[in-house]
This record gives sequence, structure tokens and C-alpha cells, in this order.
Amino acid sequence: MKKNISIMTFVFILVCVIIQVNIPATACASELKDCRVVNPYEPITYEKMKDYIKKLEAEFPELLETEVIGKSVDGRDIILVKMGKGDHLFNIIGSMHARERITTNIILQNIEDYGNAYRKNKKIDGYDVRKLLDQVTIYFVPNANPDGVDYTILGEKAILTDEAREAYQEVKTNPHSKWWDPDLRWKANIRGVDLNYNWDFGWDKEDSFFDIGKPADAFFKGHYPHSEPEVKAIKRLTVNHPFLMYFSYHTQGRLIFWYKYQTGEDLEDAIEVTKKIEKYTGFVPVPAANNIPENHSSYRGYADWTVAEFNKIGMTIEFAQGGYCEKDFDEIYKPGKALPLLLAAEVLRLESKYDHYVYIEDQLVQRFKNLDESREFINKNIKGDVKDSVKVEVIRDDELLIQGERLLPLRAVLEECGMEIHWYGSLGLKKIFAKPGIIFNWS
Ligand SMILES: [Zn+2]
Repeated sequence: MKKNISIMTFVFILVCVIIQVNIPATACASELKDCRVVNPYEPITYEKMKDYIKKLEAEFPELLETEVIGKSVDGRDIILVKMGKGDHLFNIIGSMHARERITTNIILQNIEDYGNAYRKNKKIDGYDVRKLLDQVTIYFVPNANPDGVDYTILGEKAILTDEAREAYQEVKTNPHSKWWDPDLRWKANIRGVDLNYNWDFGWDKEDSFFDIGKPADAFFKGHYPHSEPEVKAIKRLTVNHPFLMYFSYHTQGRLIFWYKYQTGEDLEDAIEVTKKIEKYTGFVPVPAANNIPENHSSYRGYADWTVAEFNKIGMTIEFAQGGYCEKDFDEIYKPGKALPLLLAAEVLRLESKYDHYVYIEDQLVQRFKNLDESREFINKNIKGDVKDSVKVEVIRDDELLIQGERLLPLRAVLEECGMEIHWYGSLGLKKIFAKPGIIFNWS
């Protein structure tokens, strides 16, 4: 009997060891095999999205970092996924409109594809993933409207709190559009505010055609700009990071809404980027990139607000043709597969223009083209009490801010004065020679 127990114990330990050895540390631990955790052929609920993001983060820890940037009305996290190692940033916001939830699938598939390609040093549609993500970091918000998205997938049982249920009941009495197919119709957050109508650019404009003036499943602009917690979270993210471009993903007809009343160089830059997106995706620019009608109007959207606020490139990209099915994901994904890589390349092409950096203490918060835009941002967004208590600085990119001290590299100063610099440090000479005929002696 004792012997039997010993044998059984041995067998048990052996089984445990075998099981332990065979359990992969993550869902796809092999570096030789591509990681495949995302299933984009079905609707992705909030819980599933969190699970995918957790697995992707475990798989590509060197490339991904996640952060909760706020909460939805019903208490779900608004999750940010940062992908890349670079100093140059731009963002892509998905599923601001609930029924356009396949943009979450597109973003999560991007993250998985880029992780795999980075690891194996492979290109995607000709774009060098490793080279781009070493220089650029993409700030993805895969799902900006998790309550609305879950409602389109799960129906009323998606609603978690009494507060949200009460607000939802009110929306039900104000249907803007047909209720027979909530899966297709519902765009708003769970208390009936359209998150892409809530932004403070042209918010006051009369719009009785779309906006019925009270909470509804679509188009209600809210009681005041930036009223919704989801919008507040994205606004905070946008104001506090030096993004060089801004993109919002939607699904209404394979279009690029790119023109936001830019002028001069900003307009030329936007046209050039638009033409590249048009060429890669086959999407139609609205208005046409070389024919801007006087009467074109665009307002209240995230992209409108970013362009007005930061004088950079901001666009709404529309995938798919209205109603779509997740099972058609491959077709919908095709134009989106390398789009963020194309945008990363454009960020690198244009980044040196944004050579004025706004710092709060030692934290870089924004980049602008000139001092006026930098000051305008500071006056508008950095409140007096913050301005008084911390150091807010605008510096040029050839300057340095170290522990609150603003330093000018001597070379830049001298070159600004038209001098040519020669450094003979390698010969042990503690001297900088600046032509014509001036010698600075260190000692
Ligand atoms: Zn939309």
C-alpha cells in the first residue's frame, strides 16, 4: 500500500510537471509562430476586447503599453493602447459610434499584425513595420464608446447600472431613427449623446435636420460641448500628448473627411496626406482633394475640433458601406491593414515642421509650428493656477529642457550667428574654433 502511494505520488508529480511544461505562458508563446488571439469575424464586446488587449500586451510587451484614460457613463474603462517605441506620436480613435463597432476589430487586428511583423522584421504592404514603430508611437483607442457598442451586441442586458438604465429609458422615448434594428441604428453613448457631435467646434450651429435636441439613439449633440465622460477622456488624452495627427475611424461609405477649413501650408499638407490615403485605400476624399467648395461644412466632430484647436491634420476615415457584417471583415480590413503605417510615415515626413515644444515642468505636452500657436494653446488650456504653480515653457527643438532649466546648445547659437564650428576635442584641445577668426577657450 505504501509503495502504491509512493508510485501514485510520483505519477501525480510527473503529470503535474508534464501539464506545467505544456501550458504556454501566453496564448501564443512561440516566437516562430504568429500570434493569433484576435477573432475579427465576430462582434467584439467590451469584455472580449479587454481579454484580447491583455493577451496582446503579454505577447508583445516590448511594443505595447496600455492605460485606462477614463470611464464610460456605465463605468466601463476607456482603454488606450500605445504601440511603438518612437517619440513622434499620433492617435486613432475607434468606435466612437456604436454601430460602427467593426473599427474596434480593425484596430485590434492592426495591433496583432504589427506585433507579428515587428518581431519577424517583416513588411506589410511595403511598409517597414520595425523601422516605423521604432520612430513613431501610435496611440490607439480601440473603443471610445464601450457602453454603446455592447448595447448593439448584447441589447438591454449590456446596461450595468441603474443610472445608465434610467437614462437609456429616456432615450427610448425619443427615438431619432427606427428601433426595429438597434444593431444597425444605435450610434450614441448609452445616455443618448452622439459622441462625434459633442465637440466644441461649431457646436452651437443650428442643425434641426440631424439634432432633435434631446437624448436619442443618434445625432443628439449633448447639453453642452464635451459633456460626456467618454468625450472628456479623449479630450484629456488629446490635450496632454504631443500628437502630430488625429484620426477617428467610422464606417459610413469608404470616405475620407479631411477638409477642416485649413489654409496655407496646413491645407497643402492635408491635401498631400489625403491623396496618399486615397491612393492606398481607394476611399473617396470629401470634398475632393483639389476642389474645395465654398459651402463645405464640417463641425462638432472630433477631427473638426482637433484641427481647429491644434492646427494639424485631423481626419474622419469611413470604412465599409453602411450596414456590414463582421464575417466580411477581410474585405473591410484590406484598406485599413497598413493605413496606420502609412500615417506613421507621414508623421515622420512632416514632424520637423512642428518644432515648438510646450512643456509643463519636464513633461512634453504639445508640439506646434510656431510660437503664436504654442502661446494660444497655453492660454486656452493651461489654467492660471497651474501656470502660476508650475513651469510652462515653449522651447525650440534645438533647445533642451533639463530639470526645468532651458539650455541652448552653443553650436546652435553660434551657427545662428553665421559661424562655422570646429571641435577638436578628440585631440585633447579644450577649444571650440568658430570661424571667422573667433576662438572660445574653455579653460
Ligand atoms: Zn460614425
